[in-house]
Amino acid sequence: MNEPDTARIYLSPPHVGPADRRRLIAALDSNWVAPLGPEVDGFEQDMASCSGRQHAAATNSGTAALHLALRLVGVGAGDDVLMPSLTFVATANVAVYLGARPVFVDVDPSTWTIDPELVTSELAARAAEGRLPGAVLAVDLYGQCADYDRLTAICAEYDVPLVIDAAESLGATYRGRPAGSAGVLAAFSFNGNKIITTSGGGMLVGDDENQISRARQLAAQARMPAAHYEHVELGYNYRLSNLLAALGRGQLEVLADRVASRRSINAEYRARLDDVPGLSFMPIAGYGEPSHWLTVVQLDPNHARCTPEDLRLRLEAANVEARPGWKPLHLQPLFAGAPIRGGAISEQIFDRALCLPSGSAMTPEQMDKVITLARDVLV
Ligand SMILES: *Cc1c(COP(=O)(O)O)cnc(C)c1O
Repeated sequence: MNEPDTARIYLSPPHVGPADRRRLIAALDSNWVAPLGPEVDGFEQDMASCSGRQHAAATNSGTAALHLALRLVGVGAGDDVLMPSLTFVATANVAVYLGARPVFVDVDPSTWTIDPELVTSELAARAAEGRLPGAVLAVDLYGQCADYDRLTAICAEYDVPLVIDAAESLGATYRGRPAGSAGVLAAFSFNGNKIITTSGGGMLVGDDENQISRARQLAAQARMPAAHYEHVELGYNYRLSNLLAALGRGQLEVLADRVASRRSINAEYRARLDDVPGLSFMPIAGYGEPSHWLTVVQLDPNHARCTPEDLRLRLEAANVEARPGWKPLHLQPLFAGAPIRGGAISEQIFDRALCLPSGSAMTPEQMDKVITLARDVLV
């Protein structure tokens, strides 16, 4: 077993404390040790209100929530699903789970999220050929919302459902509205490295009560309300444990503090690495406030003193974890041959990006260490 290394500075470790411990023990003592219970109900209500939605269904991962979202908007075998190439593999996997095909679209260089212009041209071309996709799945990357209003308008024009992968953006805003408030459905993740965590968990949010209750039913093996467990359709075992929901409710109470910490970490990196030649930060879109789940820098090969990989290895040698940006999915062997519209922007970001330690529990000393090490090789 690998123990967590207390000296290591991790990219985005869980941030839990005594209040989380009390909540977990209280839930255990209540004997609601099952994938249902009062903490699950409470966490669903809390998450619905925090994302500006009417309803929410708790799941045992963000991936499960996304899978349910695509299924509920009607994606099935033979469908195409448009999504950005620059994202975590889970975004595309859920389409494949349903027998659908991911169709990748490049990101906008000013937001690093799916490019609305390219979505428009892709949908126009497909409408002309009568092969519209089953859904558009937008991703809020590294804590920055996709362009919700433009994507909503484009999808409405072609009558294609929009789903938001908000796994990385809890706590961010888009034109003053919360992350996850757009699309027919949106999905959050509470994996151990996300802005708040239940160790593993997720949440599907939306405004249609029937859709969300159907999500809960599908997540419970699609059991029909009969004593003998009647089954009409295929379901999954996707519900969240009541113990973990108790953790989630406590974590959600301190979400504002967690977001404030990630934002100040981002601001400090910006202030103290501002003069580094060839270094720039992930752009901030004018339409909202990112949660800065991860702070991501880019090194321009023509001006920077080293490559992102050199910097990563230098940090690693000092027991500091940094990570390359997401490898574009159209370059992954798993999706070899998948269609891609554009792609050069995602590729360039992958070549230049490095994610720096961004955990909300980082101390000033740890910040100093990371910044000093980075300046050593970059200035
Ligand atoms: C973390 C993540 C997911 C998956 O969430 P899990 O809870 O780990 O299943 C999906 N999409 C993106 C963009 C993510 O970062």
